[in-house]
Amino acid sequence: MERIILLCMVCTCLSAVDAEKFFFSPKWGPIGFKEREAHGDGTAMDAIIKANEFHVTGIIDGTTSLREGDIAVTAGKRSKVCFARSCLWAKSVDGHVYVAYRLSPDYTEIETKLIKKGMEHVEKGTCVKFVARTHERDFIDIQPKSGCWSYLGARGGRQTVSLQTPDCLRIGVIAHEFMHVLGFVHEQSRFDRDNYVTVMWPNIWRDRLRNFEKFKTDNLDLPYDYGSIMHFGMYAYSQDGQPTIVPKNNKNIKLGQSSSLSRIDKLKINKLYNCGDADDN
Ligand SMILES: [Zn+2]
Repeated sequence: MERIILLCMVCTCLSAVDAEKFFFSPKWGPIGFKEREAHGDGTAMDAIIKANEFHVTGIIDGTTSLREGDIAVTAGKRSKVCFARSCLWAKSVDGHVYVAYRLSPDYTEIETKLIKKGMEHVEKGTCVKFVARTHERDFIDIQPKSGCWSYLGARGGRQTVSLQTPDCLRIGVIAHEFMHVLGFVHEQSRFDRDNYVTVMWPNIWRDRLRNFEKFKTDNLDLPYDYGSIMHFGMYAYSQDGQPTIVPKNNKNIKLGQSSSLSRIDKLKINKLYNCGDADDN
């Protein structure tokens, strides 16, 4: 009898836990993100979409808006040149590409460490080095503004990278934004992407169709990289929980990456900046 009572108590507790999950779960999120979370493999871009859909209207200020979800573009001639091609950072005579940065003092010590970890991630196996700014004319100004976004490539002078706290402070998200800084667009924006993935247009949130445009990209003779940190997840901008990008031929290929650059991402950096063999310094 005692055992039966104990069993009943356990059952009651369990259903209370379920009820709590049901009533107190986050009420809303971009649908695709929830689906991805349910699959347990959210990509860096899923986190960016979630942060930006909640916080950014798509317009940063009067002349600057976001393209493809997280690439800042300013109306004017220069941004047109930089988009789809790329504006490279200068290469030093010692073979490294130094990207000077200023980090907002608003970040805590732990947040600062995390952002530096993101930098190390990009540096490892490439010729890129992030250096704290002293006198450099061109530099990135990393700030906890609203959302996660960056300009594309080097624009000349000061350029903002927004890494909002805490939503954007994930290694994968930080590395993704630094890839934009270096001049890379999203992997599925490649002009030849239709050979590799099918964009499921009817499943995409109508206001976000433009985020799936293709560009005249320089693919650097590298294979299409399903596992790039720059690839959208399978449910990006889904309006009904159905996939928006599906790999051709093999449905089991995972799209995107949650926390690190892929091997091909590193190759891309080294090829674009003509770094020769990757070093591990
Ligand atoms: Zn992006």
